[in-house]
Amino acid sequence: MSDIKFDKIALIGIGLIGSSLARVIREKNLAGHISIATRSEKTLYEARELVLGDSYTVNNAEAVKDADLVIISVPVGGSGAVARDIAHSLKSGAIVTDVGSTKASVIAQMQPELPDYVHFIPGHPIAGTEFSGPRAGFSELFTNRWCILTPIPGTDKKALEQLNAFWTTCGSKIDQMDPAHHDLVLAMVSHLPHIIAYNILGTANDLEKITNSQVIVYSASGFRDFTRLAASDPAMWRDVCLHNRDAILEMLGRFSEDLASLQRAIRWKDGNALFELFTRTRAIRHDIIEVGKEVNTSDFGRQTVINEKKDTPDPKHGKYKR
Ligand code: NAP
Repeated sequence: MSDIKFDKIALIGIGLIGSSLARVIREKNLAGHISIATRSEKTLYEARELVLGDSYTVNNAEAVKDADLVIISVPVGGSGAVARDIAHSLKSGAIVTDVGSTKASVIAQMQPELPDYVHFIPGHPIAGTEFSGPRAGFSELFTNRWCILTPIPGTDKKALEQLNAFWTTCGSKIDQMDPAHHDLVLAMVSHLPHIIAYNILGTANDLEKITNSQVIVYSASGFRDFTRLAASDPAMWRDVCLHNRDAILEMLGRFSEDLASLQRAIRWKDGNALFELFTRTRAIRHDIIEVGKEVNTSDFGRQTVINEKKDTPDPKHGKYKR
């Protein structure tokens, strides 16, 4: 039982994030009624089959009627259209939030569409997997993960406290940031690594034609780690790249410069430069373990973490979109 409970929560988008929310909301008794909306009849059918909510519709406006909390969990490029769909059906005083991986663009798309009698508070849970769809979700997804809220000027204090309490009950640790700062930080820690992974796999795929499947057969753990990132949902990551363009281009520029100097050190057999860099980066890894973000096992703690989650989907049931 928790102190925070909404009469009705509407979830727009019921993929990995939306369905994880549905599960934790049910488990922690955070809503009297959960209404679910998604774009396709197929996903709606899956959500109904999994009994993720109390009512189901493909009509976003219908889902948000009388809702006290509305959570939008669709690829960031779709946020503006969703805001337009729901704008005239929102209850006065409702909290409207999202989970999108970019924040400035979501605010620019949604804020002009929403009426000023609702509380719009953008958010981003830093929690996910490479799987998509309602079957991929699990109630512990947000446990001990950060959720970053990026309130806009003039945000109602009470609404912010309520949203804070909601995410805390879902298991998250809360931080607040300016949207532009969020986008810069996430460009470095999340967007750049995904882009590098997509690129490495693209190169390996081209090479594959020369090496006759040997890239796959002999894929070492370093390469395998990249394959997990590069298996992430293409629609979500297309939208992240298009909607956090400036920050990502800034990070890619820095990355390319650093890569060129690494390349130079290798070409000129500058062992000292290589040793100094690898020592510095190793210390960063140690720092990450120290703050408890990873465990010190050869699989980067992934298996250990997965096994701890009681209803984590069997990867076979998770879904990659093709
Ligand atoms: P997902 O599993 O692919 O689910 C996406 C949901 O959004 C589905 O209900 C889908 O509906 C709907 N949808 C897709 N495109 C849409 C569009 N153009 N307009 C309206 N609805 C659309 O995605 P997810 O992983 O839950 O990601 C949802 C959001 O969470 C994204 O903004 C992402 O940036 C953010 N996020 C993701 C992660 C992660 O690791 N996956 C982590 C943190 C935040 P149909 O299936 O019915 O078409």
